[in-house]
Amino acid sequence: MLQGARHVHIAALHAAANDAGIEIEIHELRKATDLENAQPHALVFPGGESTTMRLTGNDSASGLLPALFDWIREDSKRPVLGTCAGAILLCDPQDGGEPLVAAEIDRNAYGRQVDSFQSALDSTLLDRQFLGVFIRAPRFTKVGDSAEAVVTHENEVVGVRHDNRLALTFHPELSQDSAFHQWLLQTAKEVAE
Ligand code: GLN
Repeated sequence: MLQGARHVHIAALHAAANDAGIEIEIHELRKATDLENAQPHALVFPGGESTTMRLTGNDSASGLLPALFDWIREDSKRPVLGTCAGAILLCDPQDGGEPLVAAEIDRNAYGRQVDSFQSALDSTLLDRQFLGVFIRAPRFTKVGDSAEAVVTHENEVVGVRHDNRLALTFHPELSQDSAFHQWLLQTAKEVAE
């Protein structure tokens, strides 16, 4: 909750919970202690500005970002959804440790705000198409061996899965389609069972 499109994600998670018939509780995380208190079953890293997220999340007043990275690294089954700037943080944590999602990513690679667009995407994770909204989006430049391309746009990779971590360069929370949020909840349910 430090920066970015977080409230829309909360709405999308409620819609997904309703669509999938899964009961959820949302915890808003701003500080490392919020994570300790929440003991979540899944995480969402929203889109926004990764530079601002790094500054606020690494600041000693918060400490959230290192705490989140530790939490993810503790167990590769923990479900995580990172969208746009969130995907940048997962692929490039800049904390001296391994990437959380083994893919290389290039910020603002489509150009400026005017180059934002939406388009139909193909997803093997959903086994159907999905409307992707791209806002000053990054681009995957390489997918590592331990990761898998699961969403494409005209043969270009726009979604990568690594264990139960999913990095998307678009904004699924803006599509009125809760499928990727449902994947997160279903995965969290399976892991918890
Ligand atoms: N351009 C942003 C960044 O580099 C990402 C854009 C977004 O999250 N919509 O962090």
